[in-house]
Amino acid sequence: MMMLTKKMIEIRGLLQTVGQSDSLTLPAIVVIGSQSSGKSSVLEAIVGHEFLPKGSNMVTRRPIELTLVNTPDAHAEYGEFPALGLGKVTDFSQIQKTLTDLNLAVPTNDCVSDDPIQLRIYSPNVPDLSLIDLPGYIQVTGRDQPPELKERIAELCEKYIRAPNVILAISAADVDLANSTALRASRKVDPRGERTIGVITKMDLVDAERGASLLSDRKYALRLGYVGVVCRVPSSASGPKLFNRGNGNITTAIAKNESAYFSSHAEFGPESHLDVGTKNLRKKLMHVLEQTMAASLKTTGEAIQRELAEATYEYKVQYNERSLSAESYLAESLDAFKHSFRGFSEQFGRQEVRELLKHELDQQVLNLLAQRYWNRPLEDLSVPLPETDRLARLVKADPEGEDQIWKIKLDSSSAALTKLGVGRLATGVVASALQAHIDRLITTSRFEAHPFARQAITEASTSILKDLSYDISDELEICIKPYKYRIEVDDNEWAKGRENVTGVLREELKVCESAVKRVEEQIGGRKKAKDVMAFIDRVRSGQVVLEGDGVGGAGGFSSALLHKGRESVFLRDRSDVLKMRLLAIKSKQCANKKSKYHCPEVFLDAVADKLTTTADLFLDAELLSKFYYIFPRELDARLGRGLSQGEIDRFAREDPKIRRHLDVVRRKDLLEHVLKEMDGLRQLEAREKRYAAKR
Ligand code: GDP
Repeated sequence: MMMLTKKMIEIRGLLQTVGQSDSLTLPAIVVIGSQSSGKSSVLEAIVGHEFLPKGSNMVTRRPIELTLVNTPDAHAEYGEFPALGLGKVTDFSQIQKTLTDLNLAVPTNDCVSDDPIQLRIYSPNVPDLSLIDLPGYIQVTGRDQPPELKERIAELCEKYIRAPNVILAISAADVDLANSTALRASRKVDPRGERTIGVITKMDLVDAERGASLLSDRKYALRLGYVGVVCRVPSSASGPKLFNRGNGNITTAIAKNESAYFSSHAEFGPESHLDVGTKNLRKKLMHVLEQTMAASLKTTGEAIQRELAEATYEYKVQYNERSLSAESYLAESLDAFKHSFRGFSEQFGRQEVRELLKHELDQQVLNLLAQRYWNRPLEDLSVPLPETDRLARLVKADPEGEDQIWKIKLDSSSAALTKLGVGRLATGVVASALQAHIDRLITTSRFEAHPFARQAITEASTSILKDLSYDISDELEICIKPYKYRIEVDDNEWAKGRENVTGVLREELKVCESAVKRVEEQIGGRKKAKDVMAFIDRVRSGQVVLEGDGVGGAGGFSSALLHKGRESVFLRDRSDVLKMRLLAIKSKQCANKKSKYHCPEVFLDAVADKLTTTADLFLDAELLSKFYYIFPRELDARLGRGLSQGEIDRFAREDPKIRRHLDVVRRKDLLEHVLKEMDGLRQLEAREKRYAAKR
C-alpha cells in the first residue's frame, strides 16, 4: 500500500505547482500546538534530524509544507527547497538556517504570512508523508510583538485545519488538557473528533498514572486516538548543542530513550492498549494520511476535471489552440528578427554607404570652403570691412591661375580634406548608421517588449562594430594614402564635380534662406529685421561706434535683438556668397579644370568624390559583409544556444501577453499530466487490491 501514498504525495506536489486553490489539492497533516508544547521536537523525531528554526522570538512565521519522501535504496539524506533552486542540501543545520532566514524575512509588523515554504526531505529513514507545520499558538503577546499577533496566528491555523486535512494537535502532558489551545482549535472545526490525532508530549514530565489517563481522555474523544511521546533529544545524541550541531540521525536515540521510559512503566504495557512512542505515531500518520488522501481522490479528481475544462476553454477561445512554450517563442522571435535583418542587409549596400559618405564629405567640403574662402570678417562688428574683399578678388581672378596665393590655398585645402582622418570618419559614419538601423529593427520587432533581449542585441552589434572598426579605419586610411600626395582630376571628374557641387551649394542656399526667414520671425518681422541689420552694417562699416560691444543694447535695439541681428547678417552674407559662387561655378571660367584655383568648390568636390569611391568600396567589402556575416551568429550565441532554461523562461514572461498565454498552456498541460497520473494511481490501487485478495 505504501506505493499509493508515495504516488498520492507526488500528485499533491504536482498540484502545488498548478497554483493555489483550495479544492485543487490532496489533504495533508497539519501540525498545530502552543509554543513550547514540543511541536518541533515531534516533527524532528519523525524526520530524524534537527532542522526546524529554534529561538524564543517567534521563529515560525510562515507555514512550512514539509514533504517527506522515502527513498529506500538510497543512503543519502537531504532536503530541497523547490522554490529556491538551491539544489540538494545535505547539511541539516543549513536547512535550519535557510528556514530561519525565510521566516525572519517576514516583517514583524505583518506578524505572520500565509505564503508557505516548500521543503522536501529525501531519506531512507523517513516515511512518505505530507505535513504542514504552522506557527505555534501564543498565550500572551510579548512586549516587542504586535498586539494582533495572537489573533493572526489563530486565523492562519484555522485556515489550514479545514477539512479534509488531518489535524495533529500537540499538547504537553504537564499542561491541563482542558487548556490545550491545539485541542480547542481542533474541536472548533472537528467537533466530533473525526480527523484529529492527539499527541501528548513530555510524557516523562508527569507520573505514569496521570500520563495514562491523558491518553484515554474521554472529554474530547478522538476517533484516531491520542499518542503519548517523549521526544526530547537525549543530550548525548545531539551533543552540546552550541558547540557541536551534529548532522547525525537522532531517530534511534529518541526511540531508545522513549522505549526505556514506556517499558519501565506498567501503565503503558501491552494490556493497556494505549498508543505510545514516536514509532507508533509515524505508523499512525502514514496510515491515516493514506486513508484520508484516498478518500479525497474522487473529489479532487473532479475538481481537476473542472479546472482542466476551464483551462481548455480559455486555450481554445483566447489562444485559438496555439501551443506555445518559452523556447518556441524565443526561437520564433529570433528567426523573425534575423529575417528582418536579412531584409535590411539586402537593401543596405555599397550604394547606400556611398550616399552616406558623400553627404558627410560634402559637409566637410562646405566647412573648408567657409573657413578658407568665404570668410569675410563678420563676427566683430566694431571692425570695419577690410579694404580688399577677398571674395571679390576671387571672382575676378585671372583665368590662368598664376596667382601663387590661390595655388597654395587650394593645395592646403585639398590636403586638409585628405588628411582629415577619412578612415576613422567614414568607418564611424557607416558603423553608426548600422547601429541606428539595428536599433530601428529592434523597435519594430517582438523584442521591443523584452528589455533583456533588447540589451543583448544592442550589445552584440556594438561590440562587433567596435571590434571591426578598429582595424578597418586604419586600413582604410592606408587605402586613401596616395591622395594625400597627389590628386589628378580628369575632365569627366571635373564635370561631375561641377554638377554635384552646384547641387550642394543650392541645397546650402536653401537652408540659409529658410534660416533667414526663421530669424526674421524671431526678430519680429521683415521690416524690423531690416532695421537691425542696417544698424549692424553701419557699425561694421565704421559709421557708428558701439560702446562696450553693445552689451545692454545700442541704437535703440536690445542686446538680444542685436544678437539675432548679427545672426541674420551672417546668414544674409552667407547667402550672398553662395549665390555669387553659384554664378561663378556656372560661368565659363569654371567649366574648365584649368581654372581649378579659382573654382575650389569644384576641385574639392572632385577630391571628396575620389575619397568616397575608395571608402565605399572598402567599407562594403570589409565592414558590411563582415558585419552581415557575424551579427546573426552572435545573435544565436547570445539569445539562442547561450541561454539557460531559467533565462529563456524569464525572457518569454517579460511580455505580459505571452506570460498569460504560457500560463494557460502550462496549466492545461499540468492538469492533463495530473489526470494521467491519477489514472495510473487508480490502476495501481486496483492491482494492489487484487494482490491483497489473492493473499
Ligand atoms: P515547540 O515550541 O512547540 O516547537 O517546542 P519544542 O519542540 O521546541 O520544545 C520545547 C521544549 O520542550 C524544549 O526545551 C524541548 O527540549 C522540550 N521537550 C520537547 N519534548 C519533550 C519531551 O518529550 N520531554 C521533555 N522532558 N522535554 C521535551
